[in-house]
Amino acid sequence: MNIILLGAPGAGKGTQASRISDTYKLPHISTGDIFRENIKNETPIGLLAKSYIDKGQLVPDEVTCKIVEERIAREDCKNGYMLDGFPRTIAQAEALDKITKIDLVINIDVDFSLLLDRLCGRRVCKDCGESYHISRLNGETNCSRCGGELYQRKDDNPETVQSRLDVYNAQTSPLIEYYTAKGLLFNVGGNTTPEAVFAEVSKKLDSMK
Ligand code: AMP
Repeated sequence: MNIILLGAPGAGKGTQASRISDTYKLPHISTGDIFRENIKNETPIGLLAKSYIDKGQLVPDEVTCKIVEERIAREDCKNGYMLDGFPRTIAQAEALDKITKIDLVINIDVDFSLLLDRLCGRRVCKDCGESYHISRLNGETNCSRCGGELYQRKDDNPETVQSRLDVYNAQTSPLIEYYTAKGLLFNVGGNTTPEAVFAEVSKKLDSMK
């Protein structure tokens, strides 16, 4: 099964993606993670991506689409995969339609008033990518799942977050309409806990087996 996870920054896509990936054995493809890895390794793609990511803007479609096309052509995606953070524009969705068939688009819908706090308070594990909120860490600085060190993403600051949310509204939210028209959209309320969201998502995925 080929799945897309849609939702604003801070909606909980990464958290759901790792649960879905573990439970349904689907490779988790996060374009954001791929860019961060390239930035860490100082590759040409990383250098280019950094200039956009630091401003809360989207990396150009040509670059992003090529990365995804190469990634989903790999052997481990033969029986399905899950895209997290891609597509983010209509042009990316159209490019994806030309190279693959999508079975389901899960849209995590969260009130905008919650997103700023979720993102600015987010801490992420350097090793496994698990996300936490600072208000629930009680001073803990390591990941409860793998023990890795927690850090704050450079683009999780109020100014960059605002521009990421503006970009989402202008360029990504039209995808809800796009995939609704194709009959692929499954909407799930994301104001609740990760457990409640995952329970709904897995009910849907189980029904499609
Ligand atoms: P994320 O980890 O999904 O929040 O992505 C972090 C940043 O990477 C975004 O704010 C964008 O700058 C960039 N990025 C991730 N995915 C895409 C995409 N599909 N298209 C363009 N830029 C992207």
